[in-house]
Amino acid sequence: MDPIVKDTFDALKRNRFDVHLVETIDEAHEKVMELIPVGATVGIGDSTSVRQLEVIPRLQTEARIVVNPFSKDISEAINTGQISLSQSHRIDCLALYCEYFLTGSNVLTRDGKLLNIDGAGNRVVGQMFGPEHVVLVIGTNKIVEDLAAGYERMRNVISPQHAKIKNRKTPCAITEKCEDCTSPERICNVTGIIEKNPGMTDIHIVLVNEDLGLGWEWDWPEDRVKDVYETYAELTYLKRPDWRKEQ
Ligand code: SF4
Repeated sequence: MDPIVKDTFDALKRNRFDVHLVETIDEAHEKVMELIPVGATVGIGDSTSVRQLEVIPRLQTEARIVVNPFSKDISEAINTGQISLSQSHRIDCLALYCEYFLTGSNVLTRDGKLLNIDGAGNRVVGQMFGPEHVVLVIGTNKIVEDLAAGYERMRNVISPQHAKIKNRKTPCAITEKCEDCTSPERICNVTGIIEKNPGMTDIHIVLVNEDLGLGWEWDWPEDRVKDVYETYAELTYLKRPDWRKEQ
């Protein structure tokens, strides 16, 4: 096993997370099905890693009740103004009332901490408190050395690329670097760190030995970065460029 992956796996266990290391996306799909029982209500937090598993349709057809505020249909209705911001807010809240919350993580540190950034905070809060069980799908490309490296990645890779793909009017969408802006379309308003498994939430981590979701280092091979970016862009449905106008 890669020593960085092994260190991360061991640190997550020490931090009392229920962690499962799998090699492929297909194995991750099966593990998620195993972790979420029949009859469970499942809220979805916006996550390309989860979409890449293609597990949500199976959860829906195999007797789980899924609240997915980030499905393609719902996202397109928000993008075109058919669903208002306040309705979208209500749907996000419904996902937080479920027994299970299924999402990803922006960053995972080698010493077993989770670092997440969010525009509204729904995904950050859903990982910490509310649903009794949280299932996080995380590719090994999300592992960084420590929290400092995690902040660096969030400011200079994840948030700018996310802003660019979502057509946000922020400086980073152009410069690809964080300018600590005050834009009303700022994409990174809420940051959450989970250091140990929280007292009233069971966090299950499916660590997948593949690239999933948005995350890279700029010195990685160009083809690898391009693959991660293109997959992410293709599976990002919620774009909402004028989302503040209705307020
Ligand atoms: S603070 Fe502004 S410039 Fe920095 S990453 Fe967030 S949206 Fe981009």
